[in-house]
Amino acid sequence: MNILVVGRGGREHSIVIDLAKNNNINQLYAAPGNGGIAELATCVNISEMDIDRLVEFAKENAIDLTIVGPENPLLAGIANRFQEENLSIFAPTKEAALLEGSKRFAKSFMRKYDIPTAEHASFTDAYDAKKYIETKGAPIVVKADGLAAGKGVVVAETDKEAIEAVDEMLVNKAFAEAGATVVIEECLIGKEFSLMAFVHESNVYPMIPARDHKRAHDNDQGPNTGGMGAYAPVQDISQETLDYTVDKILQKTADGLMDEGRPFTGILYAGLMMTENGPKVIEFNMRFGDPETQVVLPLLTNDLLQVFLDVMNGEDPALEWEEKSCTGVVVAAKGYPGSYKKEIPLTGIQPCAGGFVIQAGTRKTDSGLVSEGGRVLLVGAKGSNLSNAVEDSYKCLDSLALSNEFFYRRDIGKK
Ligand code: ATP
Repeated sequence: MNILVVGRGGREHSIVIDLAKNNNINQLYAAPGNGGIAELATCVNISEMDIDRLVEFAKENAIDLTIVGPENPLLAGIANRFQEENLSIFAPTKEAALLEGSKRFAKSFMRKYDIPTAEHASFTDAYDAKKYIETKGAPIVVKADGLAAGKGVVVAETDKEAIEAVDEMLVNKAFAEAGATVVIEECLIGKEFSLMAFVHESNVYPMIPARDHKRAHDNDQGPNTGGMGAYAPVQDISQETLDYTVDKILQKTADGLMDEGRPFTGILYAGLMMTENGPKVIEFNMRFGDPETQVVLPLLTNDLLQVFLDVMNGEDPALEWEEKSCTGVVVAAKGYPGSYKKEIPLTGIQPCAGGFVIQAGTRKTDSGLVSEGGRVLLVGAKGSNLSNAVEDSYKCLDSLALSNEFFYRRDIGKK
């Protein structure tokens, strides 16, 4: 078979590592890929968003299956286009992906299907939004409706902060169209975790739970990022809670999308808060999480390609997981998630004993590997328990000759 993976991050490197183990794959391509992916797949210089060229490439190279990592092409309709051209793709249509692309849509969907989430209201008018904040009072959460690369969420400790966030979004138009509607919701208290599942229509096959570390610096200080590290599974979430999450959240979501005439094929990711009253949805992503995927897939013992094929054919992939823990620490360019330097040389990042290195924002040049983005590597390890996995991840990191123009958190998996 010929397979195409769309994306350029650590998530896609992780997917490619697993796919590359399958001997039935004739040609493995990535568009556009990164420095690490280039060691296992043929990288083609087509952007994730250039859907016309991706369709053309898939036809010309007899691609049997395309797998999509990031959210932007999903919302731009990559799955719709591939399906129109009779090309097989493991990804949701833009209609289903709206559950990630519009927080207002996601909230009204959850209300309609009685899926547990924070109480909320949506506004396009700043005056009404501020009145609602005054009635409810802080702490309160203000969110831009559309995609804002993780920057469109303000967890406000005071009314003043919440009102300023409304002004930024609705009056100053800081997120343009993505912030033309705001969702204001109850601040949930508890521990966060995420649960992903392979889904095809009403069939839901859950993975193991993971926990991301969103803040840039140790002890959850600094700004929110795309994720600075993760671990799986999450021991403080009981099997009972996981069963409840699958039944009352993931299954209901898959069924609700069918009812809405938006049947879903792909990865359903629920970002959750474990509250006193059980798990509640913070957000849905309609694709693999990053960096969660990099710590979940290493524990999957099934052949990943076979899983995709089974799920798409309506067959149970019978997922099996190693009884181990996996952690991953993200290495980022100093300054991230703000402005940061690119083209920082990356030498001596060969795999270390007992750990693994996933590449994200990297690029191969004639003079060697260089950084290309904010999040550059994820260094991880598996262990018989979480603390062994954490220890080995940091041992692996310490053995790499990394430039001091990078930074990483020292407390991944320790909270
Ligand atoms: P990303 O796509 O980067 O995960 P996003 O922009 O889609 O983020 P959310 O996941 O909705 O935004 O929120 C980002 C973070 O803000 C959450 O991980 C959580 O820590 C916090 N947060 C969001 N909503 C709430 C809430 N209702 N109560 C408490 N914290 C919240």
